[in-house]
Amino acid sequence: MTPAAADNPELLFVPLGGAGEIGMNLNLYGYGPPGDETWVMVDLGVTFADGSLPGVDIILPDPEFIVERRDKLAGLVLTHAHEDHIGAVQYLWQQLKCPVYATPFTLSVLRRKLSENGFEGDMEINEVPLSGKFSIGPFNMELITLTHSIPEPNAIAIKTPAGTVMHTGDWKFDPDPVIGPVADEEALKRFGDEGVLAIVCDSTNVFTPGTSGSEADILDNLTALIAECRGKVAVACFATNVARLETIAAAAAANGRDVVLAGRSLRRITDAARENGYLEDVPAFLDEADAGFLPDDKVLIICTGSQGEPRAALARIAAGDHRHISLGEGDTVIFSSRVIPGNEPAISGLQDALVRRGVELITAKDHMIHVSGHPARDELARMYQHVRPKIAVPVHGEHRHLVEHTELALQCQVPSAFTVENGSVLRLGPDAPAIIDHVPAGRLALDGNRVVPIGGETVRGRIRAMWNGFAVLSVPLEADGRVGDIPVSTSGLFDDEDDPVLDTVRLAVREALAKLSAKALRDDELVAETARIAARRAFREALDKRPVTRIHLIRKN
Ligand SMILES: [Zn+2]
Ligand SMILES: [Zn+2]
Repeated sequence: MTPAAADNPELLFVPLGGAGEIGMNLNLYGYGPPGDETWVMVDLGVTFADGSLPGVDIILPDPEFIVERRDKLAGLVLTHAHEDHIGAVQYLWQQLKCPVYATPFTLSVLRRKLSENGFEGDMEINEVPLSGKFSIGPFNMELITLTHSIPEPNAIAIKTPAGTVMHTGDWKFDPDPVIGPVADEEALKRFGDEGVLAIVCDSTNVFTPGTSGSEADILDNLTALIAECRGKVAVACFATNVARLETIAAAAAANGRDVVLAGRSLRRITDAARENGYLEDVPAFLDEADAGFLPDDKVLIICTGSQGEPRAALARIAAGDHRHISLGEGDTVIFSSRVIPGNEPAISGLQDALVRRGVELITAKDHMIHVSGHPARDELARMYQHVRPKIAVPVHGEHRHLVEHTELALQCQVPSAFTVENGSVLRLGPDAPAIIDHVPAGRLALDGNRVVPIGGETVRGRIRAMWNGFAVLSVPLEADGRVGDIPVSTSGLFDDEDDPVLDTVRLAVREALAKLSAKALRDDELVAETARIAARRAFREALDKRPVTRIHLIRKN
C-alpha cells in the first residue's frame, strides 16, 4: 500500500445478509485505509428455511469475509431482538469473538437464547441505554429510539471522520406504539441538520402506500370481536410483539377473560419484557396447565404458530394433541398477524385443521387486527425529509423491494441511491460513492447442532438421497476373485426389502466384476467403482430412478 493511500481512509458498507431477502441481516461498516479497515457489524440474524432443504429449519449468513478479518472487527451492535437481527449470534459468535452492544431488552432476549443453548462463551456484553452513545474503534455511535413491532427498536447514527451513516434498523412511525416511547423524530432531524452522508434503510413495505397504522388502533377492534365470542378464544400472534400481547391482554380484560400463554417463546419474551419494566400494568399470565380449569367464556389463550409452524402451540392444538389446551365447536381463533410470503400452504393447512374441529376463524384479511411494524411509503418519505442523506442504501428487502426503494429515495431528492446485494462493497466516502467490489456472501444451514455450508456435501447428499433413494451394497471379494453373497440395504426405494429388483442388481454387479482382469481385481477403487456403476445402471433400468449408491468392498483372504 502506498503512503498516499494510507492517508486516505475510506468508509465502506458491506451487507453479507439481508440485501435481496427479508431475513438474516448482517451489515458491516469499514473505516480506514483501503485494505486495512476497522470493521463494525450491525446485526447478525437468521432466516427460516423454506422446506427445500430436508431437515433444515434455520439459515444463516456466511460470515467468511469478516471471519478472515476478525482481528479488525471491533464490535457487533444489535438494533433489536427480532430473530432476523440477533438469531445467528448463538451460532456464529464463536467465529467472531467481538464485543456485543445492545439495549437492555435485546440483551435480555439474547442472554436467554445463549443460556438455553448451553453457550459457555466469554462474550463481552455491553449494555447501552436507550438514546445511548458509545464508541467502537473509529466509529462514534448514537442510538435513536424508533417504533417497530418489538420493544426497543433502534436506529444507529454511526459517526466517522468521513461522514455520518444513519442505519435505521427495522422501524415505523407509530403515533401510539402502546409500549415504549414514540419515535425520536427530533433526533433524526438534528442529525439531518448536522449533515448525514448516507442512510441504510428498511425496505420491507416499500410497496405499501400511505402509512403502516398504529398499534393502538387494534385494541378497539379486538375488544369488540372478542365480545361476540361465547366459547374459548385463542389469539395467534408473533411472540416478540410485546405491545400486541399488552393489547390482547387489555382486550381480554375488557371482556372478563384471563390470559393463558401457550408456547415457550411467549414465556421467554414476556419474562424478558417484565425484567425490563414492560407489561407492568398487565396481570401475570397463566400457564397452559391452567387453561382447563377456567370456564370457556372466561379464558383467552395467546399462542404461537400464526405462520403454521408445525411444532408451535397452535399447530398442536389444531392437531388435537396439545397436552393442556383443546379447541372445538363454539371456540374462536383470531389470527392477529400477517401472512409471511411463502407460509401460505402451512397456514392454509393449519386453518383447515381448525375449521375441521368446528373452530371459527377471524383473520386480518377481514378485520383490522394487525398492523405492520415496517414503514409504508409516506413514512419512508418522512424519514428522508428528516435525515436528508446524500446517499440512500435500501436494505431489508427482496431485490424488487430494494429497486423500488432506490427509486423512491431518488424521488425524495436524495442525490444518489444504490441497490446493493449481499457481498456488495459500497464506498460511501470520502470520494464519489460507488460499488467498488464484491466479496463472498453465501448462506449456511443449521443442521441439527452443526452449521454447514448450503452448497456442501451434507446438504447436497441429503437432497440427492431424498429425491432418489439410497442403496448400500456390501461386496465380499475372495482372494481368488470370487464374489460372495451381496447384502443390499436400501432406503426410500422399496416397500418390500426382498424386492426382486435387488436380485437383478446383484446379478449386474457380479457380471461386471466377472469381466475385470486379475490385476484390476486387486485395485480396490476400480472394483468399487465398477460395482457402483453396474448397480446404478441396473437400478435405473429397472426403476427409472438413480439412487445414491454406495459400495462397501470387503476383501476376504
Ligand atoms: Zn427485520
Ligand atoms: Zn424487526
